[in-house]
Amino acid sequence: MNEEAYKAYLAGFHASNKTNYWIESQKELERIRNKYKDRKPRILIHVCCGPCAAWPLEFLSEHFDVTIFYNNSNIWPEAEYSKRLDTLRELVDKACGNQMEIITTPYDNETYNTYLAPHADDPEGWERCFLCYRIRMDEAYAYAAEHGYDYFTTVMTISRQKNSQKLNEIGRELSVKYPSVSYFYSDFKKKGGQVRRDELVCQYCLYCQDYCGCIYSYYQRHPEQKP
Ligand code: SF4
Repeated sequence: MNEEAYKAYLAGFHASNKTNYWIESQKELERIRNKYKDRKPRILIHVCCGPCAAWPLEFLSEHFDVTIFYNNSNIWPEAEYSKRLDTLRELVDKACGNQMEIITTPYDNETYNTYLAPHADDPEGWERCFLCYRIRMDEAYAYAAEHGYDYFTTVMTISRQKNSQKLNEIGRELSVKYPSVSYFYSDFKKKGGQVRRDELVCQYCLYCQDYCGCIYSYYQRHPEQKP
């Protein structure tokens, strides 16, 4: 890991000249209200787990026809991947009577890990994570383009551990790669989003994991279990 580059990144991360993506999302909703008079636009949303999805799904379903995309082969081990998917299904059942479609992709942590392994020693929130955001968002965005969605976004901006500036930058780059689908900029944690997330998690008694997902984040959280 390049420590100087990481320090420079942290200095920028805590700077004050960042884009407020909550405000950007509100501007986009205004454009949507003017453009889509007769129907809700279709949005494909990348979801990493049920707790992180709870508030974004409630918020977005007011404005969009929502489909969920669960492609998270970063999660290790497979039992944990399945548990998070089951929790997401439980949320969709409890929050909207199973009325929202969940699309899944085959679980393949072995291949996924070949991308992350060169960054095994990175601290969480650095280049390994940027790559991990991009891989999953790119795959989901491609699906949205192939299936004629109007918008794409990800729930990951709800997390305080994830860099919303970076996530939205990746979204912007992918909107150039897949120009038929607009990117919905977001910062779901803002304006009480985190508080509402916690309320919904309690209300629906959702399982909450204690690590982000990959094997590296697991052992960073549980160093005593490292072989
Ligand atoms: S810590 Fe989370 S975002 Fe970062 S590489 Fe691991 S699973 Fe992906």
